[in-house]
Amino acid sequence: MKFSWLDVSIPFFNTAPAKVPVSVNWFPNRRCNYECHFCFHTNTNEFILPLEDAKRGLRMLADAGMRKLNISGGEPFLQARYIGEVFKFCKEELLLESCSVVNNGSKVTEKWLDTYGQYLDVMAISCDSFDTEINLKQGRAENGTATTHIGDVFKVAQWARERGTKVKINTVVTINNWEEDMNDQIEQLEPFRWKVFQVLLLDSENTGAETGSLRDARNLVITKEQFQAFLSRHAAQKCLVPEDNESMKDSYLNLDERMRHVVPAMNIQLKLTARSDF
Ligand code: SF4
Repeated sequence: MKFSWLDVSIPFFNTAPAKVPVSVNWFPNRRCNYECHFCFHTNTNEFILPLEDAKRGLRMLADAGMRKLNISGGEPFLQARYIGEVFKFCKEELLLESCSVVNNGSKVTEKWLDTYGQYLDVMAISCDSFDTEINLKQGRAENGTATTHIGDVFKVAQWARERGTKVKINTVVTINNWEEDMNDQIEQLEPFRWKVFQVLLLDSENTGAETGSLRDARNLVITKEQFQAFLSRHAAQKCLVPEDNESMKDSYLNLDERMRHVVPAMNIQLKLTARSDF
C-alpha cells in the first residue's frame, strides 16, 4: 500500500474521542552528520518535502489544533534555510505559540540566528556528556570521530541566549554516561529545561542487523535503577525533566519526513507500513 504525505495522519484526527495534535514533532529529513549509536532516525533516504507542500501540511495541522511545533532530525541544520522558512511561516502565518528545534549544535551559525532566530522560541541542543571520550563512545560526534561537540554546545547556547531564544539541553542516558556528574556544566549552560531520556530500544530502528536496523543500541541499555541514580545525582537541577522509556513512547504526535503519522512502539505496524514505499 502506498501513502502520499499526510495520509497516515488522517486516522489520528478521526479516532474517537478526537485527539488534538497540540504538540507536533516533525523530522523533515533523516540525514545527520553524527553517528549516535542509539539513534532511531538512521539515514534510509534523502527525501525532503517541497517547502510549499510542507507549509500546506502545517496549515492543516494548525487548523486541527497544533499550537507547538518541534523540528528534529536527522540534523535539522543540514537544511538550515528550509527550517528557517518553516519557522518564519509558523510564526508569521500560523501564529504558533512555540517553535523549537532539536539539533546537535554543530551546524548552527550566527548568521542563521540573525535571520531566523526571531521565529525560534527554543533552541534544544543534544548533549549527553561533557567528557569527549564518552561522546565518542556514544557516537555523538561529527562522522563519529570529531571532538568539537562540547565546544559547539556552549557556543550555540550562548549565541541563542544573546538573541533572546531559550536554551534547552537534551541528554540520553546510557551505559556510557549514567555515572557522570553533569551538575557544574549544566549550571554554566543555564538551560530553562534539561530533558533527560533513558536510552530507548525501538524494534527495527536501533536493535541491530537481525531486525533490519542500521544502529544497535542493545549494549547501551540501562536499568531503571541506573537511570534513577543519574536523576538523583542531578536532583538539585530544577530544570531537569526526566523521560523514562514509558513516558517517551506516547508523548508526541510524531510526523516523518513525508508528514506521515509515526507511532513509535505503540503501533510499529503503522510505522512500517508507512515506510513501505521507500
Ligand atoms: S545527532 Fe545523533 S541522535 Fe540526533 S539525529 Fe544525529 S545521529 Fe541521530
